[in-house]
Amino acid sequence: MPSVMSDHFAVRCRGCQFTWNTPAMAEGLKVLGACPKCRGDLEFGALAAAAPVAEAPGATTAPPHLVLGIPRI
Ligand SMILES: [Zn+2]
Repeated sequence: MPSVMSDHFAVRCRGCQFTWNTPAMAEGLKVLGACPKCRGDLEFGALAAAAPVAEAPGATTAPPHLVLGIPRI
């Protein structure tokens, strides 16, 4: 595998070489699965890997038993 000089991007299109630099775009493009401009393959870079999982339901909130108030028996 050739060394990549600059992988400081969130997503890069292998087709048109367009890059996106925000984790939010990386999430959206992951769902899309292809470049919205040319339908090319997408490559996810360092910024995408470092993206905080902000929209995972319940991941950053209190444990369910605290939220739901389930009594300990
Ligand atoms: Zn493209």
